[in-house]
Amino acid sequence: MVASLLEARRELALANRIVANEGVIDAFGHVSMRVPGRPDRYLLSRSRAPELVTPDDLIEYDLDSQPLREPGVGQYSERVIHGEIYKARPDVMAVCHHHCPAFMPLLATGTDYVPIFHLGAVGGIRPPFWDQRDEFGDTNMLVVKPEEGASLARALGQGFLVLMKRHGVTVVGTSLRDCVFRAVFSARNAEYQVRALAIGSVSALSPGETELAGGISKKTTGLDRSWEYWTLRVAKAGGVPPAAKPRAGSRRKAARAGGRKAGRAKR
Ligand code: MN
Repeated sequence: MVASLLEARRELALANRIVANEGVIDAFGHVSMRVPGRPDRYLLSRSRAPELVTPDDLIEYDLDSQPLREPGVGQYSERVIHGEIYKARPDVMAVCHHHCPAFMPLLATGTDYVPIFHLGAVGGIRPPFWDQRDEFGDTNMLVVKPEEGASLARALGQGFLVLMKRHGVTVVGTSLRDCVFRAVFSARNAEYQVRALAIGSVSALSPGETELAGGISKKTTGLDRSWEYWTLRVAKAGGVPPAAKPRAGSRRKAARAGGRKAGRAKR
């Protein structure tokens, strides 16, 4: 789907803005993607609120979460979440880490996430909890050491969602759009589940229903339909990311093309 690296960079900047615009991430949280054709590398923004991320903010990392080139800018401290999951899960092409308000009541009480409607099935039947305290004792709650990221990746297992006690959530996908779809709709589900718990007992989808409904993001046009809708909402909010700056060689070409276009416009 994503043909070139420039296109991938723009798509990832847009993904960050979509997840922010939908209320899943705010000043913190981040979305990464594996570099197309380079399973040993991933792209993640420099330390910046996701709603502001541009293609040029994206840094290329190896799976040990080391930048390929010294970026000369601040980096996210929790990037090992991404690198260690990419190492453990070759099928995962994108990762989103967030502290969405909708999830916080579940994370504070250790209440299981259960799908309460078809789109909530994207989170799985009963996604695992991970408690940093279990293995690492008192920490500042940030996942910064490779062994902490690896522990989180083990807890995730083969699932798509892992709940981080007193912290947040990490969601993965088999593509960038799949990851965004799961991030947004699992957050909606958490919101509805917590509201439902306040007024009565929750009737969740059965394991069979969860499995069937969970295929929605892969087997229907829902993924592209949602992406188009969320992109429109970002555009209405005035938040479309700028295009990536082409590299030096192609910049001259672009300038020539621009000149021709301007010439035509005059005629
Ligand atoms: Mn975090």
